[in-house]
Amino acid sequence: MSLSTAEQRLIPPIDRIDLVVVKLPFVHPFGTSVQTWTHKEALLVRLESGGVVAWGECVADPDPFYMYETTVTAGHIIRDFLLPLVEPGKTLAEMNLRFSHVRGHGMAKAAVENALLHLIALQEQVPLHELLGFPPRRIPSGISIGLKGTPEELLVAVEQAVAKKYHRVKMKIKKGKDVEWVRRVRDRFPNLPLMVDANGDYGLNDAEHLKQLDDFNLMMIEQPLSYSDIFEHSLLQKSLRTPLCLDESLLTYADAMAALALGACRIINIKQGRVGGLIESLRVAEYAAARGIGVWSGGMDETGIGRAVNIHLQAAPAFNLPGDTSETSNYFHEDIVDPPVTLDDEGFIAIPPGPGLGIRVIPEHLQRYTISGECIRS
Ligand SMILES: [Mg+2]
Repeated sequence: MSLSTAEQRLIPPIDRIDLVVVKLPFVHPFGTSVQTWTHKEALLVRLESGGVVAWGECVADPDPFYMYETTVTAGHIIRDFLLPLVEPGKTLAEMNLRFSHVRGHGMAKAAVENALLHLIALQEQVPLHELLGFPPRRIPSGISIGLKGTPEELLVAVEQAVAKKYHRVKMKIKKGKDVEWVRRVRDRFPNLPLMVDANGDYGLNDAEHLKQLDDFNLMMIEQPLSYSDIFEHSLLQKSLRTPLCLDESLLTYADAMAALALGACRIINIKQGRVGGLIESLRVAEYAAARGIGVWSGGMDETGIGRAVNIHLQAAPAFNLPGDTSETSNYFHEDIVDPPVTLDDEGFIAIPPGPGLGIRVIPEHLQRYTISGECIRS
């Protein structure tokens, strides 16, 4: 546990703060049980300090279908409530304590925290994972395959993922596209580390139906029940052999404690933005991993900035299962950063070397995909 070092870092003087919204087309539309997205729209926090420029990506979507926060609400919370609490000379721990007066809005908080950690890492000339206290390691990859029109299309996507040597494959499911679709994939790939994610599409009265998934030796069923439920997941977990994994239901450390105490899941998906930042993510991850729970890093189809943050975070050994970090080319023909995320021939991802995130924002690409920009302070 090395959090204390990152948390005790002082907030540097900040010369300029901008909020920038980018919108990038996806290579393929990404479909879940709640929404299909054709573009990635992301709010970016840009900080400038002594000639150093740092970035934080807010993982909120433009709509409230995955989570209540949106790019617009995050901009409002960051501009009007969080930035006034960011005081140079205070520690990040003190800042997070101040942030706790703002209830919820973890994605907005994380974007500010991410940008500050990026800035401090750049100024100290260390990689982000080192600032967080972890030596580099090869990160196992995982892919999340969105809902497809036909099982054949799904099989093609799974085949491509297997050829790339992804360490595990997740397929989205929803009512009407579940048991038979999983059966088709399992028949074709009997030994593939495979899991499903329902994004809350089912109710407890679907328990008998969901029990059929026990036949397929899945690694886990992610978020089968409501985004706001923990208790009913504990009832469902008792009736299933397959481990449940919670995503949407866990917004805080306290949520994770409740879920584990109730036996609502055996695995948790940590999206660092969803729980309020990297420091909070590490706290949740270490708490869960120490109790024998599987922990992995989820994704929000981030641009290269947020994708790099997830990669650095996974240097922490508490992330003990492959996450949702996949190749950039799976999402974007053109990203706003260099270098793109790629897999080696064993399906691992190398942490980009160098200070900060180890990536470079490409000015021309940033300009091409920017749909709005606002200077908050200069
Ligand atoms: Mg999920």
